[in-house]
Amino acid sequence: MRSLRSILLTGGAGFIGSTLVRQLLMRDEVERLVVLDSLTYAGSRENLVGPDRDPRFHFVEGDILDLALVTRLLRENACSGLMNLAAESHVDNSIERPGDFISTNIGGTSVLLEAARSVAVPFLQCSTDEVYGPINFPKYADESQKLRPSSPYSASKASADLLVQAANTTYGQDVVIARCTNNYGPRQHPEKLIPKMIYHALRDEPLPIYGSGQQIRDWIHVEDCAKGLIATFEKGHSNRIYHLGAKFERTNLGIARSILKQLHKPESLIQQAPDRPGHDARYALDPRLALIELDWRARIPFRSGFEEVVRELSQNLRLG
Ligand code: NAD
Repeated sequence: MRSLRSILLTGGAGFIGSTLVRQLLMRDEVERLVVLDSLTYAGSRENLVGPDRDPRFHFVEGDILDLALVTRLLRENACSGLMNLAAESHVDNSIERPGDFISTNIGGTSVLLEAARSVAVPFLQCSTDEVYGPINFPKYADESQKLRPSSPYSASKASADLLVQAANTTYGQDVVIARCTNNYGPRQHPEKLIPKMIYHALRDEPLPIYGSGQQIRDWIHVEDCAKGLIATFEKGHSNRIYHLGAKFERTNLGIARSILKQLHKPESLIQQAPDRPGHDARYALDPRLALIELDWRARIPFRSGFEEVVRELSQNLRLG
């Protein structure tokens, strides 16, 4: 088992990172948790209100591209692990300006690997189901599925994964990769599908759905995902990939309809928008290896988890 004693977590002010912070602080083994985040438009200190009162928690505003800073933080905090969640994460932005994605997602991962190597600290990479490109129904991708990323975002994540694996092969670094499906939960940035749909519905504005809306995604509650990331770090075999998915598939159109139903709004608000270039039809991961080797599986049922998240996001988006 890898030790959770002192963790450097990058991207902790973002959506999944801020939930991972909460999950880590629930663990008594964690003596120190340092979050490194550059607070891009996607990250916010507000996401860390609550955990930031815990004496074990420390926040550092900084860039994962800063090798000297990352190395110093690992040394000064005698870290037992580095978890990398920092990323440019919005596919639409990657189509508009791929350079930021190459820089942070590939260059940043390379810097973090170098820093982890210099102090011999285990490394967890948070990756995505999007690296495989579309998976035809009824197939599920296992961890040996060929990488066929469609967007600059997924290509940058796939490239980062390859760097992580190469660090093990070349330098013998202790690394592990978790590939996650679509997360839903509190504190997700309003640019993403679910909060965006809620935002428009609350204002009786049209809900823009790309193309036919028949694209299928596997939805996992962010708390399940965060627990899976911890299990991957603690128990994952070195240089192995684990799939964190819930096997709960819904079309984007289905998600929009469920939101409208819960908010008592008419389906006529759904409006077709021109499809996103390179839009994958379906993502589907087989999470069996995570169950067998990590004793992890997603536990929050979609129906109740989703309803609660829509309620919570609606309250926040009403206030905002
Ligand atoms: P997010 O966009 O909400 O958060 C990303 C965080 O990284 C932000 O706080 C941002 O400020 C920070 N960041 C960005 N560039 C940085 C840099 N150069 N230096 C330091 N910090 C930087 O993203 P998220 O949805 O929480 O995703 C977290 C990770 O999980 C990403 O690696 C993403 O690829 C992966 N992932 C997300 C999902 C999902 O459904 N959200 C699914 C699969 C994988």
